[in-house]
Parts: sequence; C-alpha cells; structure tokens
Amino acid sequence: MTEPTVFSKIIDGEIPAEKLYEDDDCICIKDIAPKAPTHVLLIPKKPIPRLVDATPEDQALLGKLMVTAGDIARELGVDDAFRLVINNGANAGQTVFHLHLHILGNKKYTEDDGLGF
Ligand code: 5GP
Repeated sequence: MTEPTVFSKIIDGEIPAEKLYEDDDCICIKDIAPKAPTHVLLIPKKPIPRLVDATPEDQALLGKLMVTAGDIARELGVDDAFRLVINNGANAGQTVFHLHLHILGNKKYTEDDGLGF
C-alpha cells in the first residue's frame, strides 16, 4: 500500500484546500502556488499515480475530466484562452503522484514559455 498523496488527503478532507467544484468522480481546487493568474487543479478521486498508469477502465473518467475542465474554464471566465497541462513523471515536473490536470488561464503565453508548439 503506498502512502496517500496530498491530493488524497485533500479529497478526504484531512488537508484544507480552496475547493471550486466537486462531484462523485473529481474535485477542483485552487493551486497553492499559482503559476498563472488563474491556476486550478482538476483531480480525479481515483488515485491514478500518473497518466501512463491509467488503463482502458479509466477511459470514461479521463473523458469526463476533459469535459469538466472545459466547464470549469467557462465558469472561471477563461474559456477563451487556457491551457491544460498534465505533468507525467518527475522528469516532466510531476511532484504529486496522483493524476491531475492543471487549468492555466488569463496569462498571455509566448514562445519563451517553452510550450509554444
Ligand atoms: P505537479 O508538479 O505534480 O504537476 O503539480 C502539483 C501541483 O500541486 C503544484 O502546482 C503545486 O503547487 C500544487 N500543490 C502541492 N501541494 C498542494 C497543496 O497542499 N494544496 C494545493 N491546493 N495545491 C498543492
């Protein structure tokens, strides 16, 4: 059994977080160290460590996360310009090993951000 991550503890209510949305499958919270004017995290309640650990069984859940991310972006007023980021693995910058989508909005991205492809 692996240690529960900080996100599992937030989902279980053991650690406080600024919650924006919750349903049976996922939770959306404000990032504690925002990297953009709007920076929220959409986290499935199922503790899938990394995107590559998802299985065909998780297909509906992953689809739901994408649709929900769009809804949240709309709700936050950033649906015109936002990015969805999933860091997979420590070498890609993943620090919490519980799958999550970063919703980053209200920032003017440039090629210098390194993701301008
Ligand atoms: P990663 O680097 O794994 O893709 O993203 C983890 C994110 O979780 C980071 O942006 C970090 O600021 C955020 N984070 C880490 N611990 C906490 C916490 O306790 N509460 C909240 N709200 N965000 C956290």
